[in-house]
Order: sequence, then structure tokens, then C-alpha cells
Amino acid sequence: MPAPKTAPPKKEEKPAAAAPAAAPVEGAAPAKKAEKGKREKKHKEEKGVKAMYKVEGEKISRARPTCERCGPGYFMADHHDRFTCGHCGFTRYKQK
Ligand SMILES: [Zn+2]
Repeated sequence: MPAPKTAPPKKEEKPAAAAPAAAPVEGAAPAKKAEKGKREKKHKEEKGVKAMYKVEGEKISRARPTCERCGPGYFMADHHDRFTCGHCGFTRYKQK
């Protein structure tokens, strides 16, 4: 069978969004980025100093305890069962 010269080149089309989300593979990471064309960001809780305080009217309250070793100004990280200080490593377990 003679192939015509004017035959268009074969295009290999990649199936879009074919990878299941159940098993993340290392090679799938860049492909995921390309899919993420939209600029939709889920508004999670903002982090930073803001997250440490709650503003109620003209008063503020601290959302996390401060480190007992380092003193005020050193907030402790809020884990599910404990607070830890990132500065000195002090850990205080939450009481139930
Ligand atoms: Zn500390």
C-alpha cells in the first residue's frame, strides 16, 4: 500500500486528566501543574502573625499559648494533641 505524501503527520494526543488521584506518582507532579490553569485558590486560614491573634472589636486575644520557656512573643504551634515551641522545642500536651 503506497502511502500518499500529503498525509498529515500523526498527532499524539494526550488524554487530559486521566490520572486518578488515588495514587500520586512522582512523574505526575508536572502534569498536574499544567492542568492547573485556572487561578482558583481555596481560601484556607491565612497564616502568619495574623493567625496568632483574634480581633474582637477593639480587643485582641491570642489564639495560641506562648512558650513558657521563651516568654511572651514566642507562640507555640498548635498540634492536635499538643503545643510545641519551634524556638526551643518545649512541648505542652493538651489536657482533656
Ligand atoms: Zn520556647
